[in-house]
Amino acid sequence: MPHVPYRMCHVCRRKFPKRELERYVCRRDDKGGKEEFWKDPEQTLPGRGFYLCAREQCRNAKRAFRGRQKKCRGKI
Ligand SMILES: [Zn+2]
Repeated sequence: MPHVPYRMCHVCRRKFPKRELERYVCRRDDKGGKEEFWKDPEQTLPGRGFYLCAREQCRNAKRAFRGRQKKCRGKI
């Protein structure tokens, strides 16, 4: 059986296969502006990342999460 990497949803703290999660990273844009959350569909961007599962309540909790990472606000 192939190894499946698991990651934890940052909101509900359940574990899911990585490919079922959406990854977001906190990084600056190319102009060196403010740090913001970027969606990372390839799950390869460097930087501090976190994962969210597909459940609606977790996706909706993104706003609450934003407050926790004070340096990194902006678009999710
Ligand atoms: Zn979740």
